[in-house]
Amino acid sequence: MLKINIIPALQDNYVYFLEDEKTGKTAVVDPSEAQPVLDFMKDHKKAKLDYILNTHHHGDHIGGNKELKEKFGGEIVAFKGDAHRIKNIDIMVEEGSDFKIGESAADIYEVPGHTLGHIAFHFPSSMALFCGDTLFSLGCGRLFEGTAKQMWESLKKLRSLPDNTQVYCGHEYTYANGNFCLIMEPENGALHRRLIGVKRLRDAGRPSIPSMMGIEKKTNVFLRADQPDLLANVPLAKQDPVSVFAYLREQKDNF
Ligand SMILES: [Zn+2]
Repeated sequence: MLKINIIPALQDNYVYFLEDEKTGKTAVVDPSEAQPVLDFMKDHKKAKLDYILNTHHHGDHIGGNKELKEKFGGEIVAFKGDAHRIKNIDIMVEEGSDFKIGESAADIYEVPGHTLGHIAFHFPSSMALFCGDTLFSLGCGRLFEGTAKQMWESLKKLRSLPDNTQVYCGHEYTYANGNFCLIMEPENGALHRRLIGVKRLRDAGRPSIPSMMGIEKKTNVFLRADQPDLLANVPLAKQDPVSVFAYLREQKDNF
């Protein structure tokens, strides 16, 4: 099992500090900057960092790599196809690669769309998914490099994980995302109920993360592009999932 700590960074990024309970091996996921991680480690008396996991190449996910690697010698784990734009990768992975933090094994998924080299780390024994900017709580990443079809396929891949999977994404966007979902699916009762809980957490200054895959499937419109309840609200002649997903993404870009 992994012990998972949430470290807020930059404006609205989340960095995750993971510790394999059995072996004490540690990792950090998507360190946008080093300082919040250093502060966390100091406060919690953590002296070593074995791995630095990156989901994709954007600066707000890899900005702390260099300093953390220099200080602790942590090995950088990232997608092999991104070796040209993520510096000094030690462990290159792709879908199906074996990777473990101590005794916690990860399944690695390629989930292009936001960027072409985006990956997600799923730790089945901890029921935890680290999905960067592919799937957000009540949202999904913008299509900077990939197509709507690629992103929809990536989201379907993540959607197929068990309902009790905890979703640790790259940003705190849940409340604003939820307000967009409400416009697209105003009669979704589960969504209304969920947003009340999210607002309560945020008002108390607490993260809305992790989310759960089961509730994402019921409330996140970007995972629902093939669901009849959502389709009833989509004014498209051709309601195939990719067209619907592209429509949703476009509406959100202009929200
Ligand atoms: Zn990004």
